[in-house]
Amino acid sequence: MKRIFTLLALALAFGAAYAQEQSPEMVHFLKEFPQRAGFNTHSYEFTDVTDTPAPRGYHAFYISHYGRHGSRSDWAGNYTYKLVRDILAQAKADGVALTPAGDSLLRESAYIFEKYDGMDGRLTPRGVREHRQLAKRMYQRFPEVFKHGSKKIRAVSSTTPRCIVSMNGFTAQLLAQQTDLDLDLDTGEKFFTYIAQSENGTIRARTQKALAERPRQPLDAAPVYQTLFQNPEEGKKYVKNESAFLHGIYAVARVAEAFDINDNLFRYLPFDAVYSIHEQQFLSAYLNQANSELNGDLRLPLNKPLADTLIIQAERVISGASDRAADLTFGHDWPFLGLCAYLGLEGIGDRLTADEAATSWMASENCPFAANLQMIFYRSKKKEEPVLVKFLLNERETAIPALVPVEGPYYKWEDAKAYWATRVPHTQIVAHRGYWKQNAQNSIASLTEAQNFGCWGSEFDLHLTADNVVVVNHDPSIGNTKIQTSPLKEVRTHSLKNKEKVPTLDEYLKQGAKNKDCVLVLELKPHANASREDVLIEKCLEALKANKLMDPKRIAFISFSYHICKELAKKCPGYSVQYLEGDKTPAQVFADGINGIDYHFSHFKKHPEWVEQAHALGMTVNAWTVDKEEDIRLMKVMGVDQITTNEPALTREILFGRK
Ligand code: MG
Repeated sequence: MKRIFTLLALALAFGAAYAQEQSPEMVHFLKEFPQRAGFNTHSYEFTDVTDTPAPRGYHAFYISHYGRHGSRSDWAGNYTYKLVRDILAQAKADGVALTPAGDSLLRESAYIFEKYDGMDGRLTPRGVREHRQLAKRMYQRFPEVFKHGSKKIRAVSSTTPRCIVSMNGFTAQLLAQQTDLDLDLDTGEKFFTYIAQSENGTIRARTQKALAERPRQPLDAAPVYQTLFQNPEEGKKYVKNESAFLHGIYAVARVAEAFDINDNLFRYLPFDAVYSIHEQQFLSAYLNQANSELNGDLRLPLNKPLADTLIIQAERVISGASDRAADLTFGHDWPFLGLCAYLGLEGIGDRLTADEAATSWMASENCPFAANLQMIFYRSKKKEEPVLVKFLLNERETAIPALVPVEGPYYKWEDAKAYWATRVPHTQIVAHRGYWKQNAQNSIASLTEAQNFGCWGSEFDLHLTADNVVVVNHDPSIGNTKIQTSPLKEVRTHSLKNKEKVPTLDEYLKQGAKNKDCVLVLELKPHANASREDVLIEKCLEALKANKLMDPKRIAFISFSYHICKELAKKCPGYSVQYLEGDKTPAQVFADGINGIDYHFSHFKKHPEWVEQAHALGMTVNAWTVDKEEDIRLMKVMGVDQITTNEPALTREILFGRK
């Protein structure tokens, strides 16, 4: 469904357009390969490749393959394909003559609509052929993997029908090549979680903002009327929404190949329109799914589960724990792009700005239907020699620029694993009192900024007013008003530095609920006695429930009050509760049922063993408030789970090893 939303969003944005500079490289590319203008919807093409011979004494023994489904129909064809067909058919029926081009587009859109038959995203027969041919070539290229050993092949697919049908096509062909293969096919939600890792709302919002701010070529429909109608003025009357019509033609053109129409249907649109829509399409994918400067740090962790699964599968074969000849995984374009980014593949995995990507990012070439990544593993006859791996992007040997190969495209598997282990830092960032540098501490604006920056979590401080309302503020007093002994009305006479009223917890949570990717870290401040603290806990839990935030993935608790920590641990099993004071060993805290510590970093300098001790007990470790480079670096090396900081940007640079 995502793509139709993109297309509709683009259509709605039709009016708001600006002068756009076209990249000469992209213009050349689109003119030379017009079908690439669909970005990720061109059919798979195979050009002959040659294999660099493996180092002496090595032979292939295992293959890991991730394949995108084959050619498919697009989304919302009942709207897009039908819209184009209906406009042209109605005009013709009313005696408004079409040009030969108009007649031909009418035929093609009607043909596609009829074949599509209301089935969004279905695999077309061409899609099945692509997978059969891929399987045949894999078999013929690496026969030794299939002919010797266990002959066991495991294939798993995304739960989406087009991926399952792709898997069936691929594996049926393997069986046709060799009937004694032992095939094991599966699909299910369990696999979907890593094959098609979930999207991230923060990434999506940042991408939409960046795209909205980009200059864009206004779409001009006049040339289209000239192309399609003998009398353009008459033809124009049949088009109620010009943008929707142009996007409809684009939608027909981009799937023509999938329906075996071997003609360039983009020719019905002016080149400037094709350029503009194509750029929006592929930049949206690059910023959302690949290793972009804008979102790469947030995207790479989402790709880790898929990469880790493939790595573990290979490890099991290498160690002898599994005797599979091949693991085949069938999924979608966004995990494919994400995987290429995570593995650090040359070109497609590069980290670029949107401007750089607009000029040079070639996923329009590398992400066709049935796009695939294959890892081919090689073993030496001499047991002491290391296992090698080479990477095939759409069956062509490719490189990982960060690594030095043994020779040609052959890398040591251990080197590749060591590199990938550095791709995503273990430690997460918690914004201390929100990301407040441009705002005010504990303001709703600072929480919003932490969410937009993609912090793992955002921390804030909570007090109970005399009339039992929870408010967000760090200090126990604001001006002369002591929060815990004053009614809300009096507390609310004060404003924060950015002019916001002191927020209530409920108001704060309303903003928190808008972004499910940023954990809300509630610091419950100590109160006069245990019974006031119990009321605070009760009111916090009520507010969380009312805002549908009682979810251990979305909230975490911290407190200097040991009573509060113990009570929360009892009342909220499965939720993260971290004690702040730093005066107890992990074992003491653990013995009281509390599952985490959040200590000033100086305590971990004095007791470096506490991090390991806490982890051994299954506890989480957070360190506050870490703002200096050397301290951030030390906490990273010590392996704490979270760093709470006033400097999220600096912390991110250090965690990702850029500083
Ligand atoms: Mg605090």
